[in-house]
Amino acid sequence: MIYTLPPLPYASDALEPRMSKETIEYHYGRHLQTYVDNLNALIAGTPYEDMELEEIIMTASGPVFNNAAQVWNHEFFFNTLSPKRINMPQELKDILIRDFGSVEAFHEQFKSAALGLFGSGWVWLAQDRDGRLHIIQESNAGNPMRNGYRPLMTIDVWEHAYYIDYRNRRAVFVDICRDLINWDKVVERLHVKTFDTGK
Ligand code: MN
Repeated sequence: MIYTLPPLPYASDALEPRMSKETIEYHYGRHLQTYVDNLNALIAGTPYEDMELEEIIMTASGPVFNNAAQVWNHEFFFNTLSPKRINMPQELKDILIRDFGSVEAFHEQFKSAALGLFGSGWVWLAQDRDGRLHIIQESNAGNPMRNGYRPLMTIDVWEHAYYIDYRNRRAVFVDICRDLINWDKVVERLHVKTFDTGK
């Protein structure tokens, strides 16, 4: 199976001025395309060729895992952003209050996890099998589904995600992403029947 880059669910300039068209064109159009191309080259002629992306992520290691997970993580990240501001539904607020004390405490802990992640990686909001939510830091291409969590939301904290617009200011980028998150989508993922993907 040849993976192809699906079109973004919004125009490349739709998130401006918070996330520039140039960032989207480099991040989605070039970085992500490179992971797609690498993945296709790596799996050609191997048993991975016949697997779904999630199955590769759950079973592969090394470069195959890295490129497969980067493809999945990026699609998930970009699909979580919305040009239109989406207020957080009460259903999610209630769960965040239960698991983090308050919605604001969740935001603070999430931001501090994003800033505290050394080097490149992803910070996730994910759900365990008992329904509780967790903030999880993953380095490089890491994805919490490998440890049995259902991903609900993520922010890419690789420097390429923010360097064009915000240079080295990861904190500003994390605040910007908070405003761009489609919280309806996050709630939708709470109700996906297949636990492992949450996609
Ligand atoms: Mn990225």
